Amino acid sequence: MNNQATVVKHTGSHYLLSPLPEWRPFAAVIRGKLRIEEQKSTNPLAVGDIVEYKEDPAGGYATITGVLPRRNCIIRRATNLSRQSHIIAANIDMAYLVITIDFPEIKQQFIDRFLVTCQAYQVPVTIIINKMDLYTEEQLERVSRYEEIYSAAGYRVVRMSALDPASAEWLREDCKGRVCLFSGQSGVGKSSIIISLDPSLKLKVQEISDAHLQGKHTTTFYEMHRLSSGGFVVDSPGIRGFGLVNVNPLELSNYFPEMLRIESGCRFTPCTHTHEPGCAVKAAVEAGEIAWERYDSYLGMLDEDEKYRK
Ligand code: GDP
Ligand code: ZN
Repeated sequence: MNNQATVVKHTGSHYLLSPLPEWRPFAAVIRGKLRIEEQKSTNPLAVGDIVEYKEDPAGGYATITGVLPRRNCIIRRATNLSRQSHIIAANIDMAYLVITIDFPEIKQQFIDRFLVTCQAYQVPVTIIINKMDLYTEEQLERVSRYEEIYSAAGYRVVRMSALDPASAEWLREDCKGRVCLFSGQSGVGKSSIIISLDPSLKLKVQEISDAHLQGKHTTTFYEMHRLSSGGFVVDSPGIRGFGLVNVNPLELSNYFPEMLRIESGCRFTPCTHTHEPGCAVKAAVEAGEIAWERYDSYLGMLDEDEKYRK
């Protein structure tokens, strides 16, 4: 008989599976070929995938026999110029995108690419601005600008400091009953936040000095942990590049919620919101109703996408 369980870790040689919300991880392997549709990714299974498996009567590794269709997933392009993609996690109830002001510096494009991917694959996102204990007046102004930009776009934005236990309380409530992904550049405090939710978890926090190193080697082994307060978290190692996958340039603006809401007002359909006359999106940017930072990211992504397609 086939049973079902969720992939909670991939070690390279085998997978750890657990039924959820129970938590009893056990080892399993893929034997032979798994039948998966649309296999353009470098990894056949991702953390969060729900699989069917057969137990080994002799008590050895279970065998994964199939994968259930994914409700959603987070994907990135495997390397900058590659057409292959890497699935970061599947069946995610909430993705928390952790950002900081200057520690390390976060590029607007990085945030917006992540948000576009989440819109495209139907993953809800909350933006966490971490390290609130560190900011100067000038940096606090940038925090406020981010809040303004992303609340206007329709996202929830929350301030946090992983060093302040009180600031973890809402997040602990938020994670209950959900599979949550923590994502963001290396050094923003993802592991620290997860540990603040559940200090019994053994995650590695970087030494302060390495947090600012550039071009650091990042592993691609993702892992799901159970929070003692309820819910599951996936810690993703720092993601540097975040190429768009499978987004048609004519549809890109559909993944900017604030553009999607008004683009029916554009004179042309489809409209790329670049050179077309009577464009409602450009008018909204000029009127300050759509943040110019977001429009800038949009144009940057259109440009880059063109490069990939050549
Ligand atoms: P990750 O790479 O995103 O998992 O980041 P880490 O959790 O390893 O944190 C990177 C560095 O930032 C570590 O030295 C943490 O102690 C520090 N850190 C994380 N969150 C905060 C915070 O809210 N405030 C301050 N001051 N430092 C933090
Ligand atoms: Zn337009």
